Amino acid sequence: MSATIIDGKAFSADIRGRVAEQVAALKAAHGITPGLAVVLVGSDAASEVYVKSKGRKTVEVGMESFEHRLPEETTEADLVALVEKLNADPKVHGILVQLPLPGHMNSDAVINTIDPAKDVDGFHISNVGLLGTGQKAMVPCTPLGCLMMLRDQLGDMSGKEAVVIGRSNIVGKPMAHLLLGESCTVSIAHSRTKDIADVVRRADIVVAAVGRPGMVKGDWIKPGATVIDVGINRIDAGEGKTRLVGDVEFESAKEVAGAITPVPGGVGPMTIACLLANTLTAACRANGLPEPEGLTV
Ligand code: NAP
Repeated sequence: MSATIIDGKAFSADIRGRVAEQVAALKAAHGITPGLAVVLVGSDAASEVYVKSKGRKTVEVGMESFEHRLPEETTEADLVALVEKLNADPKVHGILVQLPLPGHMNSDAVINTIDPAKDVDGFHISNVGLLGTGQKAMVPCTPLGCLMMLRDQLGDMSGKEAVVIGRSNIVGKPMAHLLLGESCTVSIAHSRTKDIADVVRRADIVVAAVGRPGMVKGDWIKPGATVIDVGINRIDAGEGKTRLVGDVEFESAKEVAGAITPVPGGVGPMTIACLLANTLTAACRANGLPEPEGLTV
């Protein structure tokens, strides 16, 4: 039996469509246009691409996009001063400082100057604490996207065994908290886990966020399990070409899993959709309005 392939591209388009509808309703009923400010320091090529794409998609859903490009040699104090200006700007509901920052800056210190209510990446220590204690938080975009796909696929996840592979602050740890919030029995595997294949074999839900191409093999997967592959790895495809693969060996895993996300076209497109969802959520919360439907935890 071959698994259902979860179409992240279509899912993300659906989320962005729902965001656009709710943005239009917010404008019509309250005259509020959600605004997202993205700050890019330096000229990292990959970051440039992300920032451009974020700006375009922000405008597509009817929000205002504010882009701030600062030179590589910007001081941390100047960056913090810009963040504080954006914190005070009522037209800005979400602030994203594109990571990685240049080596002379302390990313944690900069992120922690963002107003937690505008921290649409969910990386501020207050949001980490709120999520960790099961309170309303800004949830990091990639794990939020994974959760939305899991909810759509499985509905109630209560009592299911979930294994998250990877314990990073941006994916693994928040993902584990979200699955706990769904009342799953959660294990977190990492580079020191003994017999990781055996841990994964118990799981009804597997979320792989490792950064190792094809590490999770088909014979690690419990038959019928739902597999979410967060990994994005560029590998050599011969003849001077490269291609993107996930952390799961897709060809073998799809023969065993019940449902699986492909790479590319799985989790990847969900991240930006969830950034827009978080910006809408931030705008609603800032104005004391109800949470946007189906777009938050
Ligand atoms: P990260 O910070 O490098 O963390 C990787 C995690 O994997 C660490 O916890 C590490 O364990 C664990 N690990 C490494 N080797 C392992 C092994 N052999 N067995 C078990 N665990 C192992 O990476 P990340 O930022 O979470 O990203 C993970 C992957 O997701 C990357 O491919 C990244 O490109 C991708 N990603 C995609 C999106 C998206 O789709 N939008 C967003 C973010 C990240 P230790 O803690 O023990 O070192």
